[in-house]
Amino acid sequence: MTAQNTRVMPCGPEAIAEAARLIRAGEPVAMPTETVYGLAADATSGEAVARIYAAKGRPGFNPLIVHVRGLEEAAEIAVLDEKAEELARAHWPGPLTLVLPLRKGAPIASLVTAGLSTVAVRAPAHKAMRELLAAVGRPLAAPSANASGRISPTRVEHVVAHLKGRIPLIVDAGPTAHGLESTIVALTGGPPRLLRPGPIDLGLIADGDGPVEAPGQLASHYAPAKPLRLGAERAEPGEWLIGFGAVAGDANLSPAGDVIEAAARLFDLLHEAEGQASPKIAVAPIPETGLGAAINDRLCRAAAPRA
Ligand code: AMP
Ligand code: MG
Repeated sequence: MTAQNTRVMPCGPEAIAEAARLIRAGEPVAMPTETVYGLAADATSGEAVARIYAAKGRPGFNPLIVHVRGLEEAAEIAVLDEKAEELARAHWPGPLTLVLPLRKGAPIASLVTAGLSTVAVRAPAHKAMRELLAAVGRPLAAPSANASGRISPTRVEHVVAHLKGRIPLIVDAGPTAHGLESTIVALTGGPPRLLRPGPIDLGLIADGDGPVEAPGQLASHYAPAKPLRLGAERAEPGEWLIGFGAVAGDANLSPAGDVIEAAARLFDLLHEAEGQASPKIAVAPIPETGLGAAINDRLCRAAAPRA
């Protein structure tokens, strides 16, 4: 990616207005939260979310936490049962993330959930993040604002060290209060399961499944239930071809050959391919440059034989 000028603005009305403007324009912005600094982007835009991955240099796609103002906004995105509502009322705004069934037709880009039918939501307590959510008026996807494989940033200097030149704006509000990522609880049927321990202790024992971030937990990753062939220049009989660039295919991830656009459409087209009558899926070659590596990582996992 091309280097860009990164502004660091002290938290205040001017910084929030600039952050909101950038986010509406599809850019990611580093924001303080009460847990760690987050890299926030418009959760309704696949391309905006793809830019989070591009900035972090993440070699793969993991589902991201969607930040909302509160229960009402969460209910537009996810299905909350009685227990979920109770937890949200007790702990929001605050460092509790709920993994919930994704509401049908929710305006969340499929890249946010990495194609899963569940979504992680939380209402943050940090004043700056709340002001930004109100100013943008859209849910914000935000993983920690660190470069891939590095520890989560609790001070603005960490964010600068990791992401300077890769994002347009960092909002500085000093060290974060908790310095620890949010507690994650899954409420997707059955009793609540603790996926990640954090600042809020609900007395639950950590679930063996854990968050889907850890390698080897591929069962919780979305993969189409059809054979997938990679690097396909043309469709073989019985294949529905997902194109890229000059390989037109039955649908094209990005006719212009843009990996950001392709990442934004990846899970939509995999779902579309899965819904076709053709028994197999083929995918055109994707370059390893930039987000192409993350796309290929996900495609390789989806193509791997499953037990
Ligand atoms: P971070 O944004 O860096 O705090 O990490 C978010 C965590 O939430 C990661 O460990 C994700 O794997 C986890 N997560 C997000 N969405 C889901 C989901 N739908 N199901 C399970 N875990 C999730
Ligand atoms: Mg992280």
